[in-house]
Amino acid sequence: MPLQAIDEDPRTPYQLPFPPDAQDEIVVPKAIADDERIWVPQAENVSFRPLCLNRSQGYWMNLLRVRKSGVLSRHRHPQPVHGFVLKGRWHYLEHDWVAEEGGYVYEPPGETHTLVVPDDVDEMITYFQVNGVMLYVDPMGNTLGYEDVFTKIDLCRAHYTKVGLGEDYVDQFIR
Ligand code: FE
Repeated sequence: MPLQAIDEDPRTPYQLPFPPDAQDEIVVPKAIADDERIWVPQAENVSFRPLCLNRSQGYWMNLLRVRKSGVLSRHRHPQPVHGFVLKGRWHYLEHDWVAEEGGYVYEPPGETHTLVVPDDVDEMITYFQVNGVMLYVDPMGNTLGYEDVFTKIDLCRAHYTKVGLGEDYVDQFIR
């Protein structure tokens, strides 16, 4: 028996309704070249643009943007992270490799790192999928704070209220 039967009609779309309880898709046509107000500041020279804030599974997909001499503070990941560099380059103080434009990075559970952008890069943008929580720590690993999908949503609501988009603007990215 073949692993997959031959599809006699590959160009015909699926004919049945989607499961009634399935969530709506999210489509963001111009995720990078968007309105500046959509970028949410999170530290000096560091901002993010939400794409999918998945409260039901506890992860978030976002574009992280770091401009000149910005630093993403030291933090620990108890769960994995996937990243794809869309623009510029960066590295971690804890590793000797450099993440460059067009490159992919997998960060395993247990990583603790500090993201820095070199002086000759005006702007870096990386697509990150972050699962669970980011624990901000001191150099000895003592926890200083955290972020999760709910703190991300809160940051978005506060920022979108401030810039006039309204706190509901973030709802389109929440699943
Ligand atoms: Fe990280």
